Amino acid sequence: MTSHSATLIDGKAIARGVTETIRQEVEHLVRQGHTVPGLAVVLVGNDPASEVYVKNKALQTHHAGMRSFMHMLPQSTSQDEVLELIADLNKNPQIHGVLVQLPLPEQIDPVTVTNAILPIKDVDGLGEVNAGRLALGMTDGIVPCTPLGCLKLLKSVHEDMTGMNALVIGASILVGRPMAQLLLKENCTVTVAHIHTRDLPSLARQADIIVVATGKSGLVRGDWIKPGATVIDVGITRIMQENGRSRLVGDVNFEEVSKVAGYLTPVPGGVGPMTIAGLLHNTLQAAKLSYRE
Ligand code: NAD
Repeated sequence: MTSHSATLIDGKAIARGVTETIRQEVEHLVRQGHTVPGLAVVLVGNDPASEVYVKNKALQTHHAGMRSFMHMLPQSTSQDEVLELIADLNKNPQIHGVLVQLPLPEQIDPVTVTNAILPIKDVDGLGEVNAGRLALGMTDGIVPCTPLGCLKLLKSVHEDMTGMNALVIGASILVGRPMAQLLLKENCTVTVAHIHTRDLPSLARQADIIVVATGKSGLVRGDWIKPGATVIDVGITRIMQENGRSRLVGDVNFEEVSKVAGYLTPVPGGVGPMTIAGLLHNTLQAAKLSYRE
């Protein structure tokens, strides 16, 4: 029996390249006299995973030559207090991008907060205006960071995706829905699966491209995969090992899928670094939009 081995898509290396290109463009714009692009990150509460994410975002923002402004608020912060802060950040000319780290404590409605960010500063691309523009097939504005990063990974192995069958597993506002829009824009035939989908394995077997974002570790099995297909694993779950240490795993059963797929992203080191690269791209994009105003 022959056993195939998927080529791993190195998200870390691709993200480093993207960050370097952004750093050079930032340097060029600043030399021309523009304000240094600035990103404000708002974190409410002390969710340990969110703390790690925002620190990493700040670090990478600096690496790209941009300014980062952190706003760490206590768990008890009211929605009005968050809205007041956003109103200040919207007015601040040093700040081109505003990101509110999700999830938020239960007294704060994420939709209200997201929509309070000026569309031109909405670097997560989750507000009604940017989400609506994407649904209209307009990809020249601000597109959510994770799907943007996944698209870049796909383009690193498929120059042209026209006519390919793409299956997106997971239909969240954050990942699945915008991902489906981006793949449609690439002329793929797109199927969006979710928790109520019937016979997911047979849908998966028809797919040339699978992007999975469910948070269900090991969901996608080897016998679901069309030989040679490209699989992008967005999922991140921390699991405990027998030795008492924890490690991160994705939504793909890596051991099985890596034997059948043509290309596969690892977890960690695949989509994660590209999400941050997408954020840096969006911050630069927001700064460039503001320079035109
Ligand atoms: P979510 O919980 O908002 O949405 C999950 C989606 O998956 C839903 O549409 C649900 O219907 C679907 N789903 C759940 N179980 C399913 C099943 N058994 N079969 C088919 N569909 C199923 O999650 P999200 O915010 O989109 O995040 C998904 C995963 O991606 C999480 O593990 C999250 O940590 C990860 N994530 C990673 C990055 C990154 O940078 N790598 C960024 C965002 C999210």
